Amino acid sequence: RAKEAGRNAIRLFTPAMAEDARNKLIRIEELRRAVERDEFVLHYQPQKEVRSGKIIGVEALVRWQHPVEGLLLPGVFIPLAEETGLIVPLGEIVLRKACQQARLWQDRGLPSLRMGVNVSARQFLESSLTSHVASALQSADLDPQWLELELTESLIMRDVEGAIERMHELKELGVSLAMDDFGTGYSSLSTLRRFPLSRLKIDRSFIADIPEKPGDMAITSAIVSLGRTLDLEVVAEGVETEEQARFLEGAGCELLQGYLFARPLPSSEIESLIAGTVAKAG
Ligand code: C2E
Ligand code: MG
Ligand code: MG
Ligand code: MG
Repeated sequence: RAKEAGRNAIRLFTPAMAEDARNKLIRIEELRRAVERDEFVLHYQPQKEVRSGKIIGVEALVRWQHPVEGLLLPGVFIPLAEETGLIVPLGEIVLRKACQQARLWQDRGLPSLRMGVNVSARQFLESSLTSHVASALQSADLDPQWLELELTESLIMRDVEGAIERMHELKELGVSLAMDDFGTGYSSLSTLRRFPLSRLKIDRSFIADIPEKPGDMAITSAIVSLGRTLDLEVVAEGVETEEQARFLEGAGCELLQGYLFARPLPSSEIESLIAGTVAKAG
């Protein structure tokens, strides 16, 4: 049997697979170089506060300015960065850039915006994370209250006790924590209660089919009530239509983020957008 499996394994390793493996190695090498040379830029997607109608925060989303292929989205390189551990230095770059940008906007007299930064599993588990966050805040001279780290349910649930400890460590720096892609994982009410979180971000898969799927609307409303019970603000991601926005506002969702308001934008475009909002409001 073992012999047979061995033969199969050999037969299954086709030239196409060899090609894939080679491409992956090339990609890893490119990514390593990109981290060394810092070929990354951040785009920022606004979050609108329902109560005031104002943009009160942005989420930083990394893009790779690839020398040949142009601007690449995180979906094509974050998983590889995670797999290789390159997410740790990349995450450090992202934290620095995000803190610097938040401080720069403040220096230019824009109303202060909360800056959300995504943290992936590998980064969160690395013991250097807290010191990287502290050093990014310090070198940008940014008040920690403006930085929010977005964690995902799945990464926290791998080791609940360890995660709670790490979260408190981060909280002690003065930053806030949000649970990203909420609803896709398995946190129970009793564990969720123990996390020192400020916000829940409803996964955009629950928003996408509003109003066609009553089940998704019920889940969304339930998450908003859950937020109220646990004293957490709720952010809806992936809001694309007026109808979705109206539903979410009616349900009591505090913050909305999505293409309806703005796509992730380069920093300069955020500035004009905010300036416009301020002028309109004043
Ligand atoms: P995420 O944190 O859940 O970010 C939201 C994603 O939804 C972003 O995709 C954003 O462009 C997209 N989005 C926002 N509004 C809409 C909408 O109305 N409709 C649709 N269809 N999509 C919308 P993006 O920028 O491609 O990022 C994908 C994921 O990559 C992020 O999901 C996050 O998990 C990860 N990521 C992005 N930047 C970083 C980073 O700096 N570090 C780490 N570790 N992960 C990152
Ligand atoms: Mg996020
Ligand atoms: Mg999300
Ligand atoms: Mg996501």
